[in-house]
Amino acid sequence: MASAATDAPGALFLTPGMLERGLELMPIPAAHVSRGEDGFTVVAVNRAYRLAGLGVNAARSPMLIALGERIEEFLDGGELRLDFDWTVGDAIDCRYYRVTIARSALTYRNRCTIAFIDQTSQIHTERTLRREMTTDSLTGLPNREGFIDMIEPLCASGTRHAVLIVDLLRFGRINACLSSLAGDELLITVARRIKGALRARDGLARIGGDEFGIAMTIDEDPHEAAQLADRIQRALMAPFRLTDYEIGVECSIGVALNADAVEDVEELIRHAQFALKRAKSTGKTEFYQTQAFALAREQFAMETALRRAIDRRELRLTYQPICDLSTGEIVSFEALARWRDEDGRDHMPTDFIPVAEESGLIVPLGRWAIDEAAQTLAAWDAAMGGDCGVKVAVNLSAIQLQRDDIAPVVEAALIRHGLPGDRFTLELTESAIVSDPDRIAGIMHALRALGTTLAMDDFGTGYSNLAYLQKLPIDVLKIDRSFVTGMLADRDKIAIVRAVLSLAQALGMKTTAEGIESNELAQTLAALGCTYGQGYLYAKPLESADALSMLDARRAAATASSAS
Ligand code: C2E
Ligand code: CA
Ligand code: CA
Repeated sequence: MASAATDAPGALFLTPGMLERGLELMPIPAAHVSRGEDGFTVVAVNRAYRLAGLGVNAARSPMLIALGERIEEFLDGGELRLDFDWTVGDAIDCRYYRVTIARSALTYRNRCTIAFIDQTSQIHTERTLRREMTTDSLTGLPNREGFIDMIEPLCASGTRHAVLIVDLLRFGRINACLSSLAGDELLITVARRIKGALRARDGLARIGGDEFGIAMTIDEDPHEAAQLADRIQRALMAPFRLTDYEIGVECSIGVALNADAVEDVEELIRHAQFALKRAKSTGKTEFYQTQAFALAREQFAMETALRRAIDRRELRLTYQPICDLSTGEIVSFEALARWRDEDGRDHMPTDFIPVAEESGLIVPLGRWAIDEAAQTLAAWDAAMGGDCGVKVAVNLSAIQLQRDDIAPVVEAALIRHGLPGDRFTLELTESAIVSDPDRIAGIMHALRALGTTLAMDDFGTGYSNLAYLQKLPIDVLKIDRSFVTGMLADRDKIAIVRAVLSLAQALGMKTTAEGIESNELAQTLAALGCTYGQGYLYAKPLESADALSMLDARRAAATASSAS
């Protein structure tokens, strides 16, 4: 090792006293050290350095103990100056320095000056700010930002983990009815109870008004997440006492596992949120499933295409005859929507009606169907030279009935196409009535006042409240296809069909059996007293022109047989 004496031939020799006076001019801790055969010597320091307690005795100086190697490297290297961050002390008393080691010429190979900028309070301030930014002030839990900070290391370390999102049901109502203070109190208690249900290493955050996020590591089996969700639900089940009320809090929980090929934390949270949305409709804890996401994407694509289809008139109605079971005569045609998209693909209503319902497109679609069916019927009348003798039946979805004011729409269509109300049948489902009985009853009475026939579609599949049914102006019960198909070989089905038929008789309603595919079925149903039948036995849903031809042919046959 070189000695101080060999340093820098011709360099100005400063005494330690002179050096110290020079350092004293610096407002920050600074020291001058020199390297000799037995290691470092602290040649001179300033007052700020002494106060910082960085050590003057080379053998015991925390500065030299921690930085000695770096100083050596610097002196042996080819730089005039080196800057780096240095943390000294323990967690409780920790100081953060920006350190600069410098020499005035490369020829100084054994002496340098070291200066320290204390950044401790700045770093503390930044950390406090960050903590405030990532903390929910009400519960003291991390907020959404903090939640992300919490999951990031889990994602980075590659440990298997899950994100759960807990959403309180009815919280908006509770908040509105009680004071917001009581709402706050409830949230704090909920947070405490959820915390109690977690394991020590699970993290909890409040990521929205009434939404909590949980980050958990999975040790063995994703089932652990379901178990945790269960514990949370149970923890919230016991009523909460708030001022004068005792309130039960229910919650929905959505879960996403990082195993589902997630790209980042945000995506993981999005997945959990997606599962949550499903949980809200199923009422169960739901796990995010890759297929579910793909399915939703497909539905969005379909929604976009369907929106365009309505504008571009890519939809059409097909018509399936409904016949009198005793005479075989066609009494009406049910209008069934079809959609041929721009690629020439046909979509069935079972695929696109649910999308239309979810997106609200059912309203324009339903209005279109009503008008289109009326227009077709008027065209048939015109072609047959007067009343063609059949009704047309249009399906009304429950969502459409909730969202739209149907009676005026039907009335306008009847007027526009010059049809009396008794040429129209409207098919409603039980689910429509269950959704909002009073409103739907009002609509049904308004439709009845127009002279239209009302049919209860898919009867038997829902939760029929018989007492209620009696009060509604229903003319026809349509027995769902699921009871008719295979009925001859199934005693339970026959029993149900019989029960429906006698119920309808008792209530003075007519009946239509759907899905009749064989003569034998038609005869049995006729014998059991069913009024009408619909199914492939008579015809599949037909294009409008084919339906008209069928009508025409029947009319010709009837005229011929009555003439002979
Ligand atoms: P739905 O009202 O129960 O209509 C009867 C369905 O059974 C039709 O299916 C019809 O093609 C089918 N079907 C008829 N006879 C037979 C048979 O003998 N065997 C078999 N296997 N099936 C038969 P589609 O046309 O696919 O319609 C499905 C559902 O879509 C309809 O069920 C109805 O609820 C809904 N829907 C169709 N068009 C519209 C519409 O314009 N508006 C609304 N809101 N819903 C519609
Ligand atoms: Ca129907
Ligand atoms: Ca049906």
